[in-house]
Amino acid sequence: HGDTPAPRPSNLNSIAPGWFSEIGPMWPGEARSLKVEKPLFDKQSDFQHVQVFQSETYGKVLVLDGVIQLTERDEFSYQEMITHLPVCSVKDPKRVLVIGGGDGGVLRELSRHPSIEKIDMCEIDKMVVEVSKEFFPGVSVGFKDPRVNLVIGDGVKFLQDAEAGIYDVIIVDSSDPVGPAEGLFQKPFYLNLTRALRPGGVACTQAESIWLHLPIIKEVLTICSEIFKGSVSYAWTSVPTYPSGTIGFMLCSTEGPEKVNFRQPINPIEEIVTEEAARPLKYYNSEVHSAAFILPQFVKDALKDI
Ligand code: SAM
Repeated sequence: HGDTPAPRPSNLNSIAPGWFSEIGPMWPGEARSLKVEKPLFDKQSDFQHVQVFQSETYGKVLVLDGVIQLTERDEFSYQEMITHLPVCSVKDPKRVLVIGGGDGGVLRELSRHPSIEKIDMCEIDKMVVEVSKEFFPGVSVGFKDPRVNLVIGDGVKFLQDAEAGIYDVIIVDSSDPVGPAEGLFQKPFYLNLTRALRPGGVACTQAESIWLHLPIIKEVLTICSEIFKGSVSYAWTSVPTYPSGTIGFMLCSTEGPEKVNFRQPINPIEEIVTEEAARPLKYYNSEVHSAAFILPQFVKDALKDI
């Protein structure tokens, strides 16, 4: 890997002493703040600035380059949705690829699905994995699943080299497109997604917030519609500690809606009966799945010509 990036601001004490305030270029003029009880970890990795702190009201918080990635209190919404939206849209999924997601939360959610035989995960930064194992046992528990094959490397490169047509599901659990995740929002990456998916397979990528990032959503929807041609839909959920409190996902398949219809889960989670699946879900269910694709009028208007 290349040169170590210059340290970015930690956002600790940036507005008021004893508070973390998430100041960043992707949400100008606003900054969510959490009261810090105790800083727990603060290091620069080869790729990004990694921090963990104990907050007063949201449990432990993982921060990369000054941006909140997860808090113990609300991570379940994001992890359950980014995982079960695609996996429950495929009958009998067997091979899954996760790009990013080094905290292990997506793996924890995948472990509910008994049809899966193998899970490849490509995370660029091994410090994220180590920190999650040390500070977030309830999230990193996903790494204990024996089906997981963890590769430390760049997801863009991993996907380029992946065998064609082998994945039933690909989940891109990335950080924002500023920093190491930039390539995960670009055309060549999406082309390689279509190549690595089997026909009828489904990809799901982190696709930002309707309140802050309509231009990014529009661009990703345009590129994905051109490249996948089949079914492409935006879905969203609420996560209080992400900027604006909402985050979205782009669901993509090369098959048209008559074959792959994201709105009606074909592999409903309620019908899976295993010990793992019996662990209660906190956010996702089949009704929430269908509802996630319903868009407010201002979003429908902005996306109507695509
Ligand atoms: N849930 C979070 C959110 O939406 O803000 C993101 C979670 S996850 C922690 C994002 C992960 O993607 C990070 O661990 C980061 O290191 C990883 N990542 C960023 N760029 C990557 C790349 N090019 N290849 C693989 N992983 C990457």
